[in-house]
Amino acid sequence: MQVKAPRGTYDILPPDSSKWHYLEKILRETAALFGYREIRTPVFEHTELFERGVGESTDIVNKEMYTFIDKSERSLTLRPEGTASCARALVEHSLYNGLLPVKWYYIGPMFRYDRPETGRFRQFHQFGVEAFGSNSPYIDAEVIILLVEILNKLGLKNYELHLNSVGCSVCRKEYREKLISYITPVKDRLCPDCRSRYQKNPLRVLDCKNEACHQAIAGYPTIYDSLCDECREHYASVRKALDDNGVSYKHDDNLVRGLDYYTNTAFEVHIPGIGAQSAVGGGGRYNGLVKECGGPDVPGIGFALGMERLLLALDNFDDLNKRMTDVFVAVMEGQYEDIGVKILTDLRRAGIRADKDYTGKSPKAQMKYADKLGAKLVILLGEDEVKNRFLTVRNMKTKEQVKVGHDEIIDFIKRELEVS
Ligand code: AMP
Repeated sequence: MQVKAPRGTYDILPPDSSKWHYLEKILRETAALFGYREIRTPVFEHTELFERGVGESTDIVNKEMYTFIDKSERSLTLRPEGTASCARALVEHSLYNGLLPVKWYYIGPMFRYDRPETGRFRQFHQFGVEAFGSNSPYIDAEVIILLVEILNKLGLKNYELHLNSVGCSVCRKEYREKLISYITPVKDRLCPDCRSRYQKNPLRVLDCKNEACHQAIAGYPTIYDSLCDECREHYASVRKALDDNGVSYKHDDNLVRGLDYYTNTAFEVHIPGIGAQSAVGGGGRYNGLVKECGGPDVPGIGFALGMERLLLALDNFDDLNKRMTDVFVAVMEGQYEDIGVKILTDLRRAGIRADKDYTGKSPKAQMKYADKLGAKLVILLGEDEVKNRFLTVRNMKTKEQVKVGHDEIIDFIKRELEVS
């Protein structure tokens, strides 16, 4: 019986893998430009980390975790997100005692047992950044500017950035009570999930995907109206910094991160038109998380971008995929294969992307193959070339052919590639 990849997972095949390289390069370069360095954490962690670090009332923890018991009876979970692991690493290595802020980025697969559809997988990839150790609104602005810079570099112009503040533990506590009182009389109109969680976590009702829940609570008091002076000021400073730096956003009262350790700034980016799952990324400030992970009271802020969804939004990769090989060595007669391989090795050792055929294709089929690989130049090696000790170089665009001596071939090819 044929074994297939598990539901919600997929293979990244060439040429698509070059799209991933391209995306990863932009992500890494932009993060470095802003002073963020890479952290790599394990793909699985103790289940408890996510129960505490993501929150027990979330869908991620309640319904979507890949949890298993290992041979030593430990409960482990494939990471559903990256922030909790970063907070754990910060505490485990006592980095909060060092030079602050600690600025990290991560890139890698995440796992959630979710219903697969366009843009939603069970193994998917996230790029994220985390900045620990600063409560300044300007670092909130920095991570948002970094996010927007990534989208700009990818040429994604039609994004929508939503912004809100969810306050601090003090003003949110008051707000929670207000919201619970507002929701209680209409609780029977809520979806079963919201009905069971609104007492414990009323903010989750605001970002419920169920339209009926939104209708039931229409006209609800906003968190913005309940912010304390300090939180209001923080939010105003973030907004001003974004305005000053040319970042456009929309204040969104519905945008909440419904967990206790999320504080102040919350944001989300959508790209309309990539399918029902239009959220490409989200993040916010989580001043209570490091403490929740057993560390001191260290503030933090970050975001995660869904890489599959970014790639869905990018569809202009044709040029990129064609640029596989710069030079193709076409051996016209089988007995000269060994010479062809030597030329190929010389080219590659000189840093030139070169390839040849290994399946005995006819000269005509080799030219077609060279074209498919995107070769700009083809080195032809036939009887005339071998007997008279030269090489023919064909420019695939102009169709011009020139004779070049063996000794000059590398320099010649380099010059030609520079001008083409
Ligand atoms: P979250 O950690 O839920 O805020 O997710 C951050 C981003 O990761 C989302 O905006 C999506 O772009 C992406 N994402 C989350 N879950 C999935 C999934 N199951 N499949 C693909 N991308 C996802």
